[in-house]
Amino acid sequence: MACTDCPRACTARGPRSYCGLDRPGRVYWQGVTLLEEHELAPTYEVWLTGCSLRCRFCTVPAAIESPRDAPWHAPDDVLDRALAADTPPFRSLALVGGDPTVSRPWVDAFLPRARARLPGIDLVLNTNMYLSGPQAAADARAFDWIVGDLHFWTADCARRLAGASDYPDVARAAAEAVADAGGRLILRLLLLPGHAACCGRPAIAWAAELARRSEGRVLVHVMAHYAPAGRAQGHPELGRMLDADERALVALLPDDVPRPRSTPLADRPARPATARDPAAPLRFHADGSVLLPFVTGDLLPLAVELDPTLAPRLAYLDPD
Ligand code: SF4
Repeated sequence: MACTDCPRACTARGPRSYCGLDRPGRVYWQGVTLLEEHELAPTYEVWLTGCSLRCRFCTVPAAIESPRDAPWHAPDDVLDRALAADTPPFRSLALVGGDPTVSRPWVDAFLPRARARLPGIDLVLNTNMYLSGPQAAADARAFDWIVGDLHFWTADCARRLAGASDYPDVARAAAEAVADAGGRLILRLLLLPGHAACCGRPAIAWAAELARRSEGRVLVHVMAHYAPAGRAQGHPELGRMLDADERALVALLPDDVPRPRSTPLADRPARPATARDPAAPLRFHADGSVLLPFVTGDLLPLAVELDPTLAPRLAYLDPD
């Protein structure tokens, strides 16, 4: 029977499907990270393998190119790990990928268990938004936050870089469905090198209008930290950092548009001395850049060395 979990509509889930995922619920990495938006951090992140887009610049290429290599975990096993005595404190739990929507049956089983076992913790779906409007609306009602990417604005860019010419239309409709359903959305716009005119500028203008009519429930996060990762390394178009003009697009977001940190500051959870972080990979690239896909407490001091603007986040490491 055809899989309906994403618009690819493969004839069957498994090695020959687009995502390549045979069993929803394979977990690539899980642990507490400290650099998600202020509204969410610290966040317990569950990185599920498999993706409906496979963008060239994905920071965890192994999770999307070898989705069956990661171990499968029952939802309660993941929650047992999140609730372990040595897990650092967190304010939200996010399902991340790849894209968690290709693990839909597992996500549907996980949600009620997480609600029952993590009272007071916001549940977050972090997605590329390549999902139908009705599904996006249902997710908006089931999760406390949707963190949604809009990677490309034009069909041509989406076709060339992610093999999905319908992605921009689908993702914009999904974002509007989340807003119309009353959901809280952090809309992430990752600026890409060479895509200021075709993607960056129109995406910022559209996101600003969506946020303005959403009564503060849609926050727009224009991100200028792009660095070539995965299959973007050496790519003629994506294989460089943003230039100054491209980074300056961040200023196009009008001041009246809600963005992360627009909401009141939340209390910082105290970190016990017994807290332990799982090992997280570090990648050193030939151009001298360093990629930290998961910035845990162990890696935050290094991240601050590399980018001093992150220094305020060191507060998360203060002992209680
Ligand atoms: S979730 Fe995977 S198998 Fe299902 S339609 Fe999407 S890409 Fe195909």
